[in-house]
Amino acid sequence: MDERAKVLIMNLVELMRESQQRVYDYEFADYLMDKTGIKPEELVECGIYGSRPLHPDVGGIAQREDGSILHVFREHYGEGGIFKSWRRFYLGALDEVCYVPERSDSGYSRQNFLDLCDGDTELAEQLFEAVTWEHPESWIDQAIASGEWNICDGCGKLYDADENSGVCPGCGKEEKV
Ligand SMILES: [Zn+2]
Repeated sequence: MDERAKVLIMNLVELMRESQQRVYDYEFADYLMDKTGIKPEELVECGIYGSRPLHPDVGGIAQREDGSILHVFREHYGEGGIFKSWRRFYLGALDEVCYVPERSDSGYSRQNFLDLCDGDTELAEQLFEAVTWEHPESWIDQAIASGEWNICDGCGKLYDADENSGVCPGCGKEEKV
């Protein structure tokens, strides 16, 4: 990449910062980081990357080269010992392990969170932020049981009942009360 292109990209970053544009596209963010040398923390700090603060990791994890988990260094959080990494969830690769619940050796990646939420980014992020020690599946079950989340009986879409006033954003069907 020549100098002129680098300058253009840095100008773009500056423009985005000033106009408070956010990047939600991970590949684009990777591209920006790769081409400018700007660090993920800096992208977050200047408000360009995502909308949520990055907390420091809870616990740690050691993985083999193939990505399988060698050891989970658990830290107490919520009601158990877990590993949770906001940085990995928001800035890592889709298949990077970013959460290991209490009493479990299986890791969850951003992709797993998305899969649990039918690919809905907002819900996946809400779910990731919400879990403190439990399995994400259990959290969803509870959210549905308490009415916080709803499964539309029209189209089957999972959605946040409060944020959508009980109306399915997928098909517009109203929640039965
Ligand atoms: Zn629906």
